[in-house]
Amino acid sequence: MKTYSKHIALNTEKKEIINITSRVQMILHDSGIKEGMCLVNSMHTTSALFINEDEQGLKQDLLKTIEELIPQENDYKHFGDDNAHAHIKSMILGRGVTIAVSENKLELGQWEQIMFLELDGPRTRKIAVKIIGE
Ligand code: ZN
Repeated sequence: MKTYSKHIALNTEKKEIINITSRVQMILHDSGIKEGMCLVNSMHTTSALFINEDEQGLKQDLLKTIEELIPQENDYKHFGDDNAHAHIKSMILGRGVTIAVSENKLELGQWEQIMFLELDGPRTRKIAVKIIGE
């Protein structure tokens, strides 16, 4: 069994969704691993990672919906940086995805894309990619 690890660096603006699929695919290609799994993890407490469709309207719908569910302003107790809403959104949406690897390709459906969601930018972000297999 082999493992291969790389980081993806991103400079984000405030609250944006960034498609990182091609960058993960490039890392998988470089790994040479044909069969196994690919872990993609946001290494931050105020961002999220998910798989879904990369469509402009849908991305706006997602941002609007999570803002309605977890508003930026509330009677939060989080000390310091006034971003409790971003921590809570991150906890609910999750910080990572696992994707099966077959024949050195990500097993993604037709419309599935790996998306990084900035909840508290602008920031410098790091995403860990680890591929495990042979
Ligand atoms: Zn905070």
